[in-house]
Amino acid sequence: MIPLVDLRAQYRSIKREIADAIDGVLERAEFVLGPEVAAFEREFAAFCGAPYAVAVNSGTSALHLALLAAGVQPGDEVLTVPLTFVATVAAIEYTGARPIFVDVDPETLTMDVSQIERAITPRTRAIVPVHLHGLMADMDAIAAIAGRHGLTIVADAAHAVGAEYRGRRAGSVGDLAGFSFYPSKNLGAYGEGGIVVARREEDAQTLRRLRDWGLERKHHHVQKGFNYRMDALQGAVLRVKLRHLAAWTDRRRAIAAAYDVQLQGFDVRTPATRPDRRHVYHVYAVRSARRDAVQSSLAAAGIQTGIHYPTPVHLQPAFANLGYGAGDFPVAERAASELLSLPMYAEMTADQIDAVVGAVAAALPRAAAIR
Ligand SMILES: *Cc1c(COP(=O)(O)O)cnc(C)c1O
Repeated sequence: MIPLVDLRAQYRSIKREIADAIDGVLERAEFVLGPEVAAFEREFAAFCGAPYAVAVNSGTSALHLALLAAGVQPGDEVLTVPLTFVATVAAIEYTGARPIFVDVDPETLTMDVSQIERAITPRTRAIVPVHLHGLMADMDAIAAIAGRHGLTIVADAAHAVGAEYRGRRAGSVGDLAGFSFYPSKNLGAYGEGGIVVARREEDAQTLRRLRDWGLERKHHHVQKGFNYRMDALQGAVLRVKLRHLAAWTDRRRAIAAAYDVQLQGFDVRTPATRPDRRHVYHVYAVRSARRDAVQSSLAAAGIQTGIHYPTPVHLQPAFANLGYGAGDFPVAERAASELLSLPMYAEMTADQIDAVVGAVAAALPRAAAIR
């Protein structure tokens, strides 16, 4: 049995450090925000190469607050992509703004920059590119458009901790970025967590107030806020894990490179990357017109797979209010029918990689062009 992700294998490799970190929090009995979270914020901002980071209780909260800090208001429009997790779109709706979709690029599956400008109206306030699967969107092209139209860029970097675009890390590109520490993400908490990375000090101050009831100082609420605070236990766990993240990311990239090479010659598309980007493979997703058959044959061989994401958000019943229908975003729709996420975690062994490749190969004919 090969799982899609193996969080127990990771835990076994850091058990002692985690026990010490948790014990420290329990001994100090400071359970919400506090010194562990503040230290994690400093360390995470430094990791991203950005000046400020504000830790919250989920990636969804991070995106919600980032959009509020960007000044998004009811009646505004915010551009994003339909090939994402529903949280991206829900966070936009939480602000009262209307999500407007732009299809994805057929190669990278990130926002198709050639289609952004035609979606802009006088009500457009922000753009939310999604760094899907760990590959950053074309941020310079998006920044040029945002600059021309006075829009703020709030990146959904939930998949992209440690990813790079032209030498700059996710979080340090654009105005604001939201990350998720959901347990299965590349940097996962032992519970829920998220963080907003910001470039401007005033945004960081707004974010700190908003996550904690609009407090400026004790008992003085200067705006209506939320309880979006990060737990100290999560801050302590994330500090431990952040120290291992570079090694874990290198290992993910090595596994992806092995998959890329070994899957060559079979009728399956391996994930696109770009020479100016560092993909961190939160998800290693191949594409095949015979996806469902490949998935069943892998399941029969004891190999777990996933689909990120089988239904684009514009076709989810919960978002029917947006008024979109089948055929509106053909690239996202086609990708959703073809994507298959293979097992990917830093602790995967060479034998496990071989077993996955063997099972994919057994399920597919060799590509006609090759043999
Ligand atoms: C995980 C995820 C989120 C939301 O993060 P949570 O921590 O689960 O709230 C947002 N966007 C994308 C693309 C995600 O994968």
